[in-house]
Amino acid sequence: MSESISGVTLRCGFCLALNSVDLERASDRPVCGECSKPMLLDRPVKVSQEDFERTVLHAQVPVLVDFYADWCAPCKMVAPLLDEIAHQKIGKILVTKVDTDHAPDIAMKYEIRSIPTLIMFQEGEEIERSLGFEPERVRGLVEKVVA
Ligand SMILES: [Zn+2]
Repeated sequence: MSESISGVTLRCGFCLALNSVDLERASDRPVCGECSKPMLLDRPVKVSQEDFERTVLHAQVPVLVDFYADWCAPCKMVAPLLDEIAHQKIGKILVTKVDTDHAPDIAMKYEIRSIPTLIMFQEGEEIERSLGFEPERVRGLVEKVVA
């Protein structure tokens, strides 16, 4: 078997086991190797501070990260946009969200001063960020990295 070029490490939303998932086969509905429940890739995946490096920075596909907080009203405006991108670009890009209240070190490292802040990462590096609700800018950025 050839080595995956679209591999990501994701935590199962049900049993919390870490799984290596080949996003190229995302439409085959991959399941968790531990509990056999589906890995849900057609919606934003919640990433903890602990998993940020291996899930976001080591992913072999571009990763869009939504830095948000539960109490943030503008963040709720961004949520449908992220659902749309995750659904439309399944297998090509990983859409994730980081709760900044529970990830202070990551928020500090990337100098998140206002939320929502969306950052596109590729090969562990920040490519570009969007502040607030900028749907056209975010869609354009997505097209740029998946092209
Ligand atoms: Zn599981």
